[in-house]
Amino acid sequence: MTAPPAWQQERERLGRKVEELRRQGVCDTCYDLETGGGVYGARYVIYEDEHFKIKLEPYPRAKGHTIVVYKPHRDDLSLLSDAEVGLVFQVCVRAVKAVKQALGAEKVYLNTMCDGPINHLHLQLFPRYAGERTGSTRFVAPRRPIADGDDTARRIRAALLPLMHNVGGAESAH
Ligand SMILES: [Zn+2]
Repeated sequence: MTAPPAWQQERERLGRKVEELRRQGVCDTCYDLETGGGVYGARYVIYEDEHFKIKLEPYPRAKGHTIVVYKPHRDDLSLLSDAEVGLVFQVCVRAVKAVKQALGAEKVYLNTMCDGPINHLHLQLFPRYAGERTGSTRFVAPRRPIADGDDTARRIRAALLPLMHNVGGAESAH
C-alpha cells in the first residue's frame, strides 16, 4: 500500500487539528480569525475587512474554489438577520463576479452547508469553466492540491476590490 500524497496527509493533519479544537468546544474558524490564520494559514487570502474574510480553498475542487467567511460567529445561514443576509449575499455576488472576470469562469456555483456539531457560517464558490460538465457534480469534483494559488488570489483580488466600495450602501441608480 502506498502512502497518500503529501497534500492529502497535510489535509488530514488539518482535519485532526480542527477536530481537536471542536472537541474542546472551540470554533476552528473563530480561532483561526483571532490568531490570523492559526488553523488554516495566512496564504491565499483574496480579501479581508472587519466583516469578511475571502480566501481560496487550499484543496480546491476547481481552480478558484473560494471560501467566503462571515466573521461574526453564526452556526449557519438560518441565524443571520435580514440586514446580515443583505450584506452576506452582496459580498458573495461581488465575489462571484470577480471570479468570473478574473479567471474566465462561465458560471460560479454557490454552496453552503455548515453542518455538524460546531460550525461557522461560510459560503463556497465553485467556478465552472467552458467545456466542463454542468450541474451538481461540480460540488463533488475531486479535490487537488492548490496550484498557482498566490497568483489566482491576486487576480481575483484585483477584480474584486473595485466592486467592494459600496457594499451595504444604497441602491445604485441603474
Ligand atoms: Zn466561529
